Amino acid sequence: MEQPGIVITGASGRMGQMLIGAVAASDKARLVGCVERTGHAWIGRDVGLCMGGAALGVTVTDDPLEAFASAQAVIDFTAPAATVEFAALAAQARAVHVIGTTGLEATHLAAIDAAARHAVIVRAGNMSLGVNLLVKLTQKVAAALDADWDIEVIEAHHRHKVDAPSGTALMLGQAAAQGRGVALDAARVSGRDGITGPRETGSIGFSAIRGGDIVGEHDVLFAAAGERIILRHVATDRAIFARGALKAALWGQGQKPGQYDMMDVLGL
Ligand code: NAP
Repeated sequence: MEQPGIVITGASGRMGQMLIGAVAASDKARLVGCVERTGHAWIGRDVGLCMGGAALGVTVTDDPLEAFASAQAVIDFTAPAATVEFAALAAQARAVHVIGTTGLEATHLAAIDAAARHAVIVRAGNMSLGVNLLVKLTQKVAAALDADWDIEVIEAHHRHKVDAPSGTALMLGQAAAQGRGVALDAARVSGRDGITGPRETGSIGFSAIRGGDIVGEHDVLFAAAGERIILRHVATDRAIFARGALKAALWGQGQKPGQYDMMDVLGL
């Protein structure tokens, strides 16, 4: 069987370039397209040369539908507005859409739900095996502890990140809330500042640190009187997200239309 053809959107981005490298190096998939915004300096040029390496035989385009039409999967780590547009086009082309973009709000999620009626979408705020295991562990630990244990999610990322808390922090908070049997929206407290009063029992706190080139660090802190448990994941290389996304693109081939996440892909 021919290897699935993959298109990467946001080709010049930090993750875009990492994904192009991962697909080009894979013996299970072919790079068939790279998409960038209209007017971008890379349009019309070979993507490998744009990245400062050898030619890859793929010309960067600003026409996503044309690129998606020849692909079996689209891997998309861009921005919410772009991802919503790509979801509709990928569904039209019947290509698996792997979404790594974070910061999606209710309107974006509704549009993605609509696209998933016709196509396979795999979406996760974090595509790494380690973080998805951490999510499972967080749910288990939260289920085992009562509300005397305060839960805080602390994350750190590079200075260019535009959304907070990170998609991963929200996944961890969601897992903690599920484990505890509460709704995250009701328990969530983000970024304390000023006279906040004492900590409300049962709340789930989020803190975000931004600086330098930190790839991504997440702690889930369970703090009680006299003891603490800290579950931690540290990402040192974006390649872990690219490998996970490629795995998702391959896994999605032959699945029924619908929305899936990395837990499905990894069988966790
Ligand atoms: P980045 O370096 O800023 O790259 C984003 C890319 O998307 C750029 O090439 C950008 O093009 C393009 N883009 C943005 N808006 C667009 C639009 N409307 N149309 C077409 N292209 C558009 O960011 P990054 O660090 O690679 O991260 C990208 C996303 O992935 C973020 O949401 C981040 O949180 C998420 N992420 C997820 C995971 C995961 O495992 N799920 C891991 C890492 C990052 P321009 O430069 O022209 O704007």
